[in-house]
Amino acid sequence: MLVEMSTQEVRWLLSARQHISLLHKRRTTMIVSRVRLVAALFSILTPLWIIIDIAAFPREVWLPLVVGRIAATIAFGMITLLAIKMRTMNDAYRVLAMLFAVPTAFFLFSYQHMAQFQLHGIQQAFSTGYAFLPFVMLAGLSIFPLTLLENIIFISPLLLMQFIAGILRLPVLDWPTFAASFWLMLLIAGVSVLAGISQLAFIIVLVREAIRDHMTGCFSRQSGEELLELQFAMSLRNHAPLTVAFLDLDHFKQINDRFGHEAGDAVLIGVASAIQEHLRQGDVFIRWGGEEFILVMPNTTPAQASVALQRVREEGLGLRPDGTPITASIGIAERIEDSLGDWRTLVDKADVRMYEAKQGGRDRIVGPGAQA
Ligand code: GH3
Ligand code: MG
Ligand code: MG
Repeated sequence: MLVEMSTQEVRWLLSARQHISLLHKRRTTMIVSRVRLVAALFSILTPLWIIIDIAAFPREVWLPLVVGRIAATIAFGMITLLAIKMRTMNDAYRVLAMLFAVPTAFFLFSYQHMAQFQLHGIQQAFSTGYAFLPFVMLAGLSIFPLTLLENIIFISPLLLMQFIAGILRLPVLDWPTFAASFWLMLLIAGVSVLAGISQLAFIIVLVREAIRDHMTGCFSRQSGEELLELQFAMSLRNHAPLTVAFLDLDHFKQINDRFGHEAGDAVLIGVASAIQEHLRQGDVFIRWGGEEFILVMPNTTPAQASVALQRVREEGLGLRPDGTPITASIGIAERIEDSLGDWRTLVDKADVRMYEAKQGGRDRIVGPGAQA
């Protein structure tokens, strides 16, 4: 799979810092839903094991364990409920950290507690089982699509905990066994990291396939709508302007009719790349359909957007097969100036103005801040 990835996508495997919002969104959904699933499962399994503790151990051993289990069950239940509201990547990190914190705390507590007793036979077998918790947690990490850096951040405390658990038992520590189990932990960690990263690689490829329009390289309509929704929410939160430009090529059908569909396709590809050359970082360029494009410009006033689009028009969108320049009718709308409450009405407003540009004679920009 690595072979199919661009260098940027490979960088996405290492750290989430430069992840695009759509990838954040997909990952958030996946991580949060898996955290919920695991937390729900453990909120059932943790108390069920109380029966086994009581059956296997004498009262002074099981009583604190049962108290610990009840506390862990409550914590798992709370995580299950809390995860319902989680929407952002930071939320996902938070619930994931909580999910790992609960068994970590339970492990440290139970391990130290068990160390006080000299258990034999079946009791010893069950008590040894408690020492496996960090291994299970490490293996569990493999179900989350995390980057290398995130994996390291989540794995380090688990390794540290194993280390602390060893030190806590220092007087009776059997060094070779300890070293062997630490080695095993590292191996499991390695496999988990690979599994997690390959899941992430899979998501990246799926996101890439879904987000781009294959012909022009623009964002597809579907991902464009998601990005619009995100950008709208962000602009609302930051009280920042959000400008949308709706572009429709003029007399495009003629190109198809006179020179064929393939000539039309070539023109579309040329127009898209001409516009893409002028984009700022953060701008979102969407192929809305056919020969219609939407340019989403965050933190941009309509006046600034008009200036930028004017420049695009002056430098040209390319030529028709007959050598005449390609023109577009452009409608601009802005969230604050047009007092629009959601991204759909923002797009509709820009669309209406694009239509006005057509009626006004095509090859022009209509909207607040537009000259002509
Ligand atoms: P107007 O100036 O009023 O916008 O005229 P127009 O001809 O551009 O408008 P209209 O919406 O009637 O035509 C758009 C045409 O774009 C119709 C369709 O055949 C063509 N088209 C849509 N998608 C593609 C595509 O992917 N490739 C090609 N070659 N043509 C396409
Ligand atoms: Mg059209
Ligand atoms: Mg058109």
